[in-house]
Amino acid sequence: MNPTDLAVYGNSWYAAKAESPPERASLAHDADVDVCVIGGGLAGLTAAREVARSGWSVAVLEAKRIAWNASGRNCGFVVPGYSEDIRRIVERVGLDHARELWALSEDGVEYMRATIRDEMPGVTPVDGWLDVSKTDNADELVPLVTLLGQELGAEIEGWSADRVRDLLRNPRYFHAIHYPKAFHIDPLAYALALAEIAEQAGVRIFENTPALQIDPAGVRKRIVTPQARLRAGHVVLAGNTHLGGLMPEISETLIPASSFVAVTRPLGEQLGDAIRYPGAVSEARWTDYHYRIVDEDRLMWAGGLTTWRDNPNAWTRHFKHAIAATFPQLGDVEFECLWSGVLGTALHKMPQLGEVSPGLWLASGFSGHGLNTTAMAGVLLARAILDGNDAWRLFSPFNLVWSGGALGRTVLQGAYWASRAKDGVEARLGPHREEWRRRRKASAAAPRAPVAPAVETETETAVHPAEPDPVDMPVATEAMPIEGETAPRQQ
Ligand SMILES: Cc1cc2nc3c(=O)[nH]c(=O)nc-3n(C[C@H](O)[C@H](O)[C@H](O)COP(=O)(O)OP(=O)(O)OC[C@H]3O[C@@H](n4cnc5c(N)ncnc54)[C@H](O)[C@@H]3O)c2cc1C
Repeated sequence: MNPTDLAVYGNSWYAAKAESPPERASLAHDADVDVCVIGGGLAGLTAAREVARSGWSVAVLEAKRIAWNASGRNCGFVVPGYSEDIRRIVERVGLDHARELWALSEDGVEYMRATIRDEMPGVTPVDGWLDVSKTDNADELVPLVTLLGQELGAEIEGWSADRVRDLLRNPRYFHAIHYPKAFHIDPLAYALALAEIAEQAGVRIFENTPALQIDPAGVRKRIVTPQARLRAGHVVLAGNTHLGGLMPEISETLIPASSFVAVTRPLGEQLGDAIRYPGAVSEARWTDYHYRIVDEDRLMWAGGLTTWRDNPNAWTRHFKHAIAATFPQLGDVEFECLWSGVLGTALHKMPQLGEVSPGLWLASGFSGHGLNTTAMAGVLLARAILDGNDAWRLFSPFNLVWSGGALGRTVLQGAYWASRAKDGVEARLGPHREEWRRRRKASAAAPRAPVAPAVETETETAVHPAEPDPVDMPVATEAMPIEGETAPRQQ
């Protein structure tokens, strides 16, 4: 991209290697459309495309450039699920309802896969996502694996610590959940291609056109932009945290937070020796890191969260330290690009999806899990607008809740720091617990010396009750796949 474009797209690896996208004109004349979409990120573009495919007239208003923020700057992991932990979703809405929500999240993954396959020759998906544990927490993992694989019908595999360590050369990793149907992409390339195929379907996209005011009452809604007005039968608000003053009562339900991504200089063959898995990798705790190999021998590394300052360079030291702790064999890495993006999180960490008032629709709050869910949301809202389909009501339990303003940001930041400290301690204890278990197993297997006092053995057993071994997780039960097998989806 040329330097002018780069400025708005940030110092991202994707922008550096992208061709400059065609600049679209701003809205200069009053117009009348069936649907006006406010926001040219992935949520807005998908909704616009899906509506226009049915022949309706659609305009997208984008305040800056298409996908200039989160949608074009994220890590590119296309994985099922939501930002909220699926166990808490089950607690909140029950298993049957959660199963439907999970299936919708998988539909989002499949929508993207099919769209890339059929219409985006320039986007190359790389299969697989590995959610790796840094602690030997089999007691937490076993119920999760059972819930995902057996109760929700997710296609997953349980991987043992040995298999994980064979592919990711870090002895501090334990077991993992593998999602063979997930994949990773260049998200900016996807978003720009999505804009193109939306236009082919008839969508008119206006860049540098902020919606300044909206009157959502009445059958025809009115939207004011700097140079012209729009009238529309339906309006889709897809502005994420950038919606700001346009509808404060809605934007105040999201907590804006920045997260960070870096790409190293080429690391040569040593990268492939350290990371032998081509898919995307997440360390399972929300404060941990995500990474993948890009461009054959560069490492993309992502994580961190701040609700206050947004200074990517401040993360250089953290990221270097984290990479050195994870893969010391890579030495002291240098970054070529380091950038931030803004995500919008509701207090319940679920998407905000549905009809706010007649004809005024909201698709927002996708947080850090917004590739599959923006695709899902775009499709659901298009069906609702076109056919009155009410599948979006599955998200009704997750209402618009005021996010607490500055206090909400402080609470989120505090929760992040507290979890980071706790996860760090657990990860440091992991290898010690594993060593202790290994010794305990060895001593149990060894022939008992006749002189060993029976009382010592009893004491040890009483103090340390037997724990399940991660490699003995119930991944081999009948519906749960293991090591390369894939579970059949529940019908
Ligand atoms: C660093 C980072 C890494 C991430 N990694 C992943 C990942 O690997 N996988 C994953 O699933 N998710 C990831 N996410 C989350 C995902 O990127 C987002 O949830 C998703 O892109 C949000 O899309 P969106 O369309 O809702 O919002 P945005 O991309 O923020 O788009 C909203 C658009 O609306 C426009 N707008 C707002 N108000 C107005 C207005 N009044 N008038 C006109 N236009 C307006 C804005 O200019 C903006 O372009 C990540 C996010 C970040 C920040």
